Amino acid sequence: MKPSDPVTGSKLPATGTSIFTVMSQMALECGAINLAQGFPDFEVDPDLVERVAFYMKKGYNQYALSHGIPGLRENIARMIDRQWGVFVDFRDQLTITSGATEALYAAISVVTNPGDEVLLFDPAYDSYDPVIRLNGGIPRHINLQFPDYSLPWDQIDAAISPRTKAMVINSPHNPTGTVLSHDDMLRIQELAIRHNLFVISDEVYCHLVYDGVAHRSVLHYPALANRSMAVFSFGKTFHTTGWKMGYAVASPAITHELRKIHQFLTFSVHTPTQYALADFLGQEEKYLSLPSFFSQKRDRFLAGLTGTLFRARPSAGTYFQLVSYEGVSSLGDVEMAEKMTKEMGVASIPVSVFHEDQTDKKLLRFCFAKTDETLQKAAKLLQSIR
Ligand code: PMP
Ligand code: GLN
Repeated sequence: MKPSDPVTGSKLPATGTSIFTVMSQMALECGAINLAQGFPDFEVDPDLVERVAFYMKKGYNQYALSHGIPGLRENIARMIDRQWGVFVDFRDQLTITSGATEALYAAISVVTNPGDEVLLFDPAYDSYDPVIRLNGGIPRHINLQFPDYSLPWDQIDAAISPRTKAMVINSPHNPTGTVLSHDDMLRIQELAIRHNLFVISDEVYCHLVYDGVAHRSVLHYPALANRSMAVFSFGKTFHTTGWKMGYAVASPAITHELRKIHQFLTFSVHTPTQYALADFLGQEEKYLSLPSFFSQKRDRFLAGLTGTLFRARPSAGTYFQLVSYEGVSSLGDVEMAEKMTKEMGVASIPVSVFHEDQTDKKLLRFCFAKTDETLQKAAKLLQSIR
């Protein structure tokens, strides 16, 4: 971390470089297999690339409507209806953003005023806390209950004060791979109503759920949807994390506020890609096939751990797998991730960095969104660790 400028100071004095950048950089420098940062190492569907090129060549290269081209919003609304039987009005409930990261920034900004408290559940994705702080809010971190990472309802009740304005939920959950149940969602709805809270619902892995588990969006629950902003990412759905295309869904009143912020963050996002995605969403098998595609990868990764001293935790969603290395080493997880990257050639993410209190349960997060070849190579290296 560089010292902050004496004149400007720092708005995020305790924030360093994201663990994803740190581990990817380390993997690159050491020539390690990068199972750390969450991104696929396989090709994007050539038809999708073709469609983007098609619209570029056709001259769709100027600013799009700030909140997204109507065709894309309409097709997203259709997908939500087909998949979940939920009606979303594409005209005033949907905003296309530069990835979920921008949607999260805008959504958190909509509700967070100076002094407002926002509940976060650790281990939590790294962007929520700094965005709350940048808006003058106070993040209140509560640890999920180990080992199943369930919501600690008593502690949540105890943490809520008159200053609590909102909570951030994330299901399927990065980094643990847990998925909130229908019962959890009903309790979240009841809690949000009772305490008049907003809910920012990070659902970027909504299509990546396995073993017959269903994704429960806040959008399924009308009273909850009314006080929620749900955030999604095409990066996860179409293996295009570098394209930074996402969207936010909320009530018309909340969307009105969210769009005001969005127009000064990015104004609009990449025009030809919006047209291409609109076309692509018409082919529902492209996203309906994701659970089977990714669960096979998860199972291949798990098979690679057979016979090792690593122990996998259940992962019902996302493309991440938590693995305990307790049987292998007594090192802290940050040191272990570094050692495995530098000496054993496999990079992962230490889970303690997702905890404000740095809780270390000797778990590493591995991304299995990789080619079979990469997974095989990683398995060989993991099997050699005693
Ligand atoms: N939320 C979670 C839980 C994520 O894992 C990610 C990163 N993939 C994001 C948000 C950000 O998504 P995007 O890359 O679309 O900005
Ligand atoms: N979401 C990805 C992960 O969890 C990384 C996103 C990023 O690098 N900012 O690994």
